Amino acid sequence: MKTKQNNGPSTRSKAFGPGPSLGVENHWQGVWVFGDYRNYFQNRVTLQLLAKGRQLSRDLGTELTVLLLGSQIHQYAMEYTAHGADVVMVVDHPSLENYQVETYVRVVSQLVQNFRPEVFLAGATVFGREFFPRLAKRLNTGLSADCVALEIEPEKRLLIQTTPAFGGDLLADIITPEHRPQMATVHPGVFVERVHDHGATARMVYPEVDIQAEDRVQLIRSKPDQSRKGSLEDSDVVVVGGKGMGSKENFQMLFELARLLGGEVGATRPVVLSGWTEEIRLLGQTGKSVKPKLLITAGTSGAVQYTTGIQGAETIIAINRDPHAPILKMADLGLVGDAKTVLSLLLEKLRKRL
Ligand SMILES: Cc1cc2nc3c(=O)[nH]c(=O)nc-3n(C[C@H](O)[C@H](O)[C@H](O)COP(=O)(O)OP(=O)(O)OC[C@H]3O[C@@H](n4cnc5c(N)ncnc54)[C@H](O)[C@@H]3O)c2cc1C
Repeated sequence: MKTKQNNGPSTRSKAFGPGPSLGVENHWQGVWVFGDYRNYFQNRVTLQLLAKGRQLSRDLGTELTVLLLGSQIHQYAMEYTAHGADVVMVVDHPSLENYQVETYVRVVSQLVQNFRPEVFLAGATVFGREFFPRLAKRLNTGLSADCVALEIEPEKRLLIQTTPAFGGDLLADIITPEHRPQMATVHPGVFVERVHDHGATARMVYPEVDIQAEDRVQLIRSKPDQSRKGSLEDSDVVVVGGKGMGSKENFQMLFELARLLGGEVGATRPVVLSGWTEEIRLLGQTGKSVKPKLLITAGTSGAVQYTTGIQGAETIIAINRDPHAPILKMADLGLVGDAKTVLSLLLEKLRKRL
């Protein structure tokens, strides 16, 4: 699979976070990834973070640990070992079976204070977005959300956290020079998971921790959200429409194209905001990430918040009437023209052939 360059706006700036501190003591060591196994989508981003975390831990000359909280979760220990973890830290307790943010923050902050990892990563999933900011606050450290790249500056052992800023007009390199751990969330699909290695081994750690379940909020029952069901993330073909599709009626053409190609339909944010399709089809920083073999994107400009969700696609065909649209630089094949006209011709051909 090719690595896609994001050809969106590329101005870079440096930011520092957070403010005044007591200074970093130098015995913080190790890269941690939060094992977010609760559904397939979240688990994949954990595997992607393990691949990146392995590179970061090698650059720092340290170990990669995956942290697992829950009940009866040992099968994930094996999976994360096969995906590159050196250490699997497991807190297995009946009161951790269901996610409860206050309990989780309390348990994990104890572990961080005891083991002192210098880097801590989680997926920018619904879970990560709630859990990690609270944890960072509790630990009095910084957090960069929705990172699109992570690198190590070896001299000062700093994690360079690259994230879109100011509405995506620039990419900011953020560092956390004085607090630890250096925390970041990463959107699913930004990094590529390693191949499952059945022969890999890891050290298991079962730390002692004070688990007092919070009873201020109690989970009475839970059931899967049927509206989120769908195979967009798994589809080999995805056709996406952007604001340049012009209207809800024109957008319907994408559903026929997807049906003829055996694929799924995705959308950009302005399309969802205009009510042309449902939010579950939103791709990008605040939506889903896809990795199809073929992605056709019509009437989309190529904003970085959108391309974050499609950069794992193997082949991208873009249709845009503006020859200077950033999406055309990212695409493997760019068609300059009116989306409705190009799609009508394509549909006509496909209807005859299929
Ligand atoms: C914090 C934040 C998070 C965001 N998260 C997301 C996200 O998750 N997903 C997302 O999609 N956006 C997100 N956005 C919005 C994002 O910045 C862009 O505004 C959005 O992706 C643009 O959508 P678009 O390409 O459909 O529309 P536009 O940027 O308006 O582009 C329309 C394109 O269509 C072309 N066009 C117009 N008419 C035609 C025609 N007849 N035929 C062919 N081409 C035509 C134009 O040349 C243009 O390039 C976010 C923004 C912020 C600030």
